[in-house]
Amino acid sequence: MLLKHITWRIFNAKTNAVKINYRVYAFEISVRTAFIDASHAFLSSANIFMYPAGMIKTPSTVKIIPFAGWDKVSTGLEPVAGQQFTYTASDFDILFDSPIEVGTQDVFEFNAAGVRHEVAMYGGGNYDKERLKVDMAKIVEQATAIYGENPNKHYTFIVHNYAQGGGGLEHLNSTVLGASRNQYSSSMGYNGFLGLVAHEYHHLWNVKRLRPIALGPFDYDNENYTTNLWVAEGFTSYYENKFMLRAGFTNPQGYVTSLLGAIGTVMNTPGSKINSAAESSFNAWINPAYRPSENAKNTFISYYTKGEVVGTLMDLEIINATKGAKSLDDVMKAMYLQCKTLKRGYTDAEFKAMVEKISGISFTSFWDKYVTGTVPVEYAKYFAYAGIDVVNENEGKSVPYFGAAAARTPGGSGKVIVGSVTRGSGAWNGGINVNDEIVSIDNVPAEMMLERMAVITDKKVGDVVKVSIVRDGLKKDLNITLTANDAVRFKSEIKENATPLQLAVRKKWMGI
Ligand SMILES: [Zn+2]
Repeated sequence: MLLKHITWRIFNAKTNAVKINYRVYAFEISVRTAFIDASHAFLSSANIFMYPAGMIKTPSTVKIIPFAGWDKVSTGLEPVAGQQFTYTASDFDILFDSPIEVGTQDVFEFNAAGVRHEVAMYGGGNYDKERLKVDMAKIVEQATAIYGENPNKHYTFIVHNYAQGGGGLEHLNSTVLGASRNQYSSSMGYNGFLGLVAHEYHHLWNVKRLRPIALGPFDYDNENYTTNLWVAEGFTSYYENKFMLRAGFTNPQGYVTSLLGAIGTVMNTPGSKINSAAESSFNAWINPAYRPSENAKNTFISYYTKGEVVGTLMDLEIINATKGAKSLDDVMKAMYLQCKTLKRGYTDAEFKAMVEKISGISFTSFWDKYVTGTVPVEYAKYFAYAGIDVVNENEGKSVPYFGAAAARTPGGSGKVIVGSVTRGSGAWNGGINVNDEIVSIDNVPAEMMLERMAVITDKKVGDVVKVSIVRDGLKKDLNITLTANDAVRFKSEIKENATPLQLAVRKKWMGI
């Protein structure tokens, strides 16, 4: 997020020590913002602590004095022996990368991969502690298995349970997770939570240590640009699926369906035809996920989703090229070790070079197509490597498509107002704009929503409909030529009678 820093200058020649008292207003609920109320304090450190300019590498000590009745502090910071609620950070980067939870949170622990893990649950919820200890440990083991080592001595999960919560943010040896306090009892809600655990936990390698060169050391005064968030976030999303499969929380068909879901989202988002994975990453500072816009789907593809797709294809390409000997796991591990040795992040060229070294083949055309390019995903080819048939059920169908999403205005006026228009659709080509009020389509009043839908579905591709609109108080009739809906919808089959090579690729890919 954009956090421009304010600098204060203190002129005092007579002493080399300065004491500063300050108050911080903290009342924004998210995994990346500080929030304090009578029930708890969440200190997102970068929002709370000052640092002396030019002295980012200075160690610091933090002493927490909890509010009356609060008895727990949860953080990844190192405790100072013998001093309650007192912690040290060897420099300000580490302090800023260590959020602190203070209150009466429910704290439990488990050991996995030789590391002590603490879970701090704020807000209550219908979770089963014993089950979470076992299941979260499985994810930790699966993630550690890829890298061969777990870099932490201890790790802290800070979980905020709200009526409706979500999101996650990774840190050096901790994470902050948002959850809904009643999501743990349904299998979908529970797996959703475990998926978030898998995502954020994987970040302790992919991003915090195996990281794009622009992401650390941070320049806190400026935006930090990178073209590699498709690896940093997208591959982390991809590996969520792998960890959930390998830890036994989903099955091969669920795994394939989930990955095809991401491919479908990319192919059905018009922005993916003009916004590449690398460009989407570079523009993260104006990411519509954080600054929504009605035109986002036409101009932007998420580097999370596109990156997940790139990870899927790259992994299958590497495994197929090496006849099941190597996979993207080997690239991730090698890049992690390289960053550790060089003590810096990777460049795009270094990442590509490692993919080519491990796979033994050129990835130039792959990069041109899927990283810096915007070609449609060759899903059938890649899934065939693993003996999986994928078909687009909409292939060959010619379904007419209007292309403007409209909704009734809230508050009872009943007006049907256009919220977004899809690039290339009839509505787009015919001149319908966002905020237009649709009065009628082929003389059927728009507020009769069901009939309005029939007006479109009864037509053929190429038919023209008359749309009466009001724009800025003026009536207007537009002739809209219906285009074909090109949305994909996948059906997949994991073939039992696959070739030995396909079976070897599948085994390596799924890891089960
Ligand atoms: Zn992430």
